[in-house]
Amino acid sequence: MKFPSMAEADGRTLGDEEVAAVERVIRSGMLSSVWGTEARALEREIAQVYGSRHAIACSSGTAALHLSVVAAAPDPGDEIITTPITDFGTVAPILAQNAVPVFADVDPSDGNLDPGAVARVIGPRTKAIMAVHLFGAPAGIHELRALADEHGLVLIEDCAQAWLAELPGGELAGTTGHVACLSLQQWKHITCGDGGVAITGDDERARRMRLFSDKGWDRAAGRSHAAFGLNYRMTELQAAVARAQLAKLPGVVAARRRTALRLIEALKGLPGVRLPRPQGHAWWLFPIVCPDGDAPELAAHLAAAGIPARAGYLAEPLNRAPVWQAAIYGTARFPLDGYSPNPCPQAERMVDRTLLVIDWNENYTSEHVELIAREITNFRARA
Ligand SMILES: *Cc1c(COP(=O)(O)O)cnc(C)c1O
Repeated sequence: MKFPSMAEADGRTLGDEEVAAVERVIRSGMLSSVWGTEARALEREIAQVYGSRHAIACSSGTAALHLSVVAAAPDPGDEIITTPITDFGTVAPILAQNAVPVFADVDPSDGNLDPGAVARVIGPRTKAIMAVHLFGAPAGIHELRALADEHGLVLIEDCAQAWLAELPGGELAGTTGHVACLSLQQWKHITCGDGGVAITGDDERARRMRLFSDKGWDRAAGRSHAAFGLNYRMTELQAAVARAQLAKLPGVVAARRRTALRLIEALKGLPGVRLPRPQGHAWWLFPIVCPDGDAPELAAHLAAAGIPARAGYLAEPLNRAPVWQAAIYGTARFPLDGYSPNPCPQAERMVDRTLLVIDWNENYTSEHVELIAREITNFRARA
């Protein structure tokens, strides 16, 4: 059975609307968002969806995360607490600002940051917490916000995998932290190839992020540079496609929720399988925890049956990534001299043995769900 894939047209929602959007921009003659209208419109539309004062469109989710670290304004050597199970785009911006990533361990039921573990690594140099809503499951963001408030820290929410994920109170993931980031990369819920958006309710943080995304150029002041910045601008082509995609987002998430619930129903009570909690989940992937440690074997069984499933999600949790063994800036590592990342035993066990992820898609049918359920059940019956 062919599974729709986010790398192909059958697993994307790209259609006539996106074609028309690209044509509209090209025929206008203006492809840059500095003078065009599409990126500013996308920002208004995303700010409206999230009920946030500001949205800043930029070139990638990683760029949006870099802007959010800039908004947190760490001094070189300040620490930013984050999770070892995430895309490297969460961690790279910490290094880019010469801050120090401090890994905290995760909750082994869903791989999201464990607020208790975060509390244990807060120190005098901690500046911010970067939480990730992993695979679309809402992280314990209220607890993390309480910690951030208690210690005067900035809370950044990485929502790259969690478009329209909801917290227990019904609020959208991304509206509790000081800054949140979204990604429009090829493999996310909606895409324009690459793209990102940072949202915030804070005027000064928004100003800093906007300046950084445009070479520190205050366009109202002439050719004058107010701050250090890079060029992280989104193009009008990206923004126009993203706007067409944004209109389809509620349908994408609703369809993923429908089929994910069916799979949970089909697997309920199966021993050796810990199912994700569906509340508020946006189902970027469908994660399963195998507490007995046979996720790699189950993944191999599913892959052999043509199901897009992988064990571990990462080759190694980011606290074990080879990047920490080498020089980072030329031959130097400042401010990471003597740095070695914290052990995170829960995350390490998940990535090595217990975590399985199944690619999820809005175009899955009940046949896809039934095949997945059947093969997982078969594997368990044989084990
Ligand atoms: C994809 C992703 C990023 C990076 O986004 P890009 O748009 O690929 O730069 C960051 N964090 C998480 C959790 C992601 O899934």
